[in-house]
Amino acid sequence: MRELIVMKFGGTSVADAERIKRAARRIVDKREQGHRVVAVLSARGKTTDELISMAEEVSDAPDPREMDMLLSTGERISCALCAMAINDLGHRAISLTGSQAGIVTDESHTKALILDVRAERIQAALEEDSIVLVAGFQGVSENARNVTTLGRGGSDTSAVAVAAALGARECEIYTDVAGVYSADPRIVPDARKLATVSFEEMLEMAASGAGVLQLRAVEYARNHGVRIHCRSSFDEQPGTVVLAEGETMEQPLITAVTHSDKEARITLTGVPDAPGAAARIFGALAQANVNVDMIVQNEPVSAGGQAEISFTVPREDLRVARTALEPLTGEAFANMTTHEQMGKVSIIGAGMRSHPGVAAKVFSVLAREGVNIDMISTSPIKISCVIDRDSVELAVQALHSAFELAGDGTDIAEEPFK
Ligand code: ASP
Ligand code: MG
Repeated sequence: MRELIVMKFGGTSVADAERIKRAARRIVDKREQGHRVVAVLSARGKTTDELISMAEEVSDAPDPREMDMLLSTGERISCALCAMAINDLGHRAISLTGSQAGIVTDESHTKALILDVRAERIQAALEEDSIVLVAGFQGVSENARNVTTLGRGGSDTSAVAVAAALGARECEIYTDVAGVYSADPRIVPDARKLATVSFEEMLEMAASGAGVLQLRAVEYARNHGVRIHCRSSFDEQPGTVVLAEGETMEQPLITAVTHSDKEARITLTGVPDAPGAAARIFGALAQANVNVDMIVQNEPVSAGGQAEISFTVPREDLRVARTALEPLTGEAFANMTTHEQMGKVSIIGAGMRSHPGVAAKVFSVLAREGVNIDMISTSPIKISCVIDRDSVELAVQALHSAFELAGDGTDIAEEPFK
């Protein structure tokens, strides 16, 4: 049987007519090499942002169901146009919405989780020798059968889920960057393109601000054993392959420095030192669908003392978080303060598992640069510091150079897995 390839094209790779035609050409090239091809597309350029603005123009709090009806159109446009371009190249192509492609999700509008991919219709189209284009970022809810979307960047997850359902060995993600780098090249010009990264490292990177791949896509790929090849849609160079830890080619101490400048911090004081307080606070936030990141709490030291809890949320969730917590004032805590302009810098590397002293080095590098650390959290392969948003660039540059992550230009691997 001919090998099945799943290709995903991001928003910039289909931004205008020229680029749609280029993506179509690339899809057809794969087909002409003898593969069966499914391509998952994102909405063009800034389409999703524009759709969100349109909703905000007519409503202060757009209904989530209708929001999904609206947002899902962006990806449909890309797929229909690309199918037309492929047809003009002399190949048969059919575009499918997420729902038509059998992507079944839970009911949580704008942040839906994929429950199942019932790929019969994709399979049937492939049997008929069509190239299949699937609208990313969307599905249909299991019970209410509403159109759902998967959260920003969700087309990556659509692509990985389709690859898993069809038993593809690898999912190719074509994007506007050449792969995964040791730091954001816009901040660190000599950042190195990584040939391979483990799922675990990529999960930590995606969770701590690396924008290349959606976090959920990496989780899904790890859980289903699908390799992700993240590469440029503008050239033929191999990019970065994300795969299981035992399969990575190298295991340096530190793999990458990541950052985010979109954090907000909430501090609750006067939290009763009794069982149940934290449960109520974070229960309310979970109910409101707020993604809480770093949480810090200390046992109060003075007798009869009350605890303080600080945590971070994405800045865009701050308003919702505040609204969810306000009713608990005077019960689960006495006072709430918020800091909007926070950032976070993290270093990630599977090698630090067995190597002491990494945290001490991170803190001394930041101290030398005069960067004050607000909060710290660690995992076995990550150290994150919440800092002022204005210090983020400096901190990333200093850590990248202190851990000697810069490339010497020789690291661009030959096509590693063919
Ligand atoms: N179009 C959606 C977004 O902008 C999904 C995606 O591009 O993956 O977030
Ligand atoms: Mg994207």
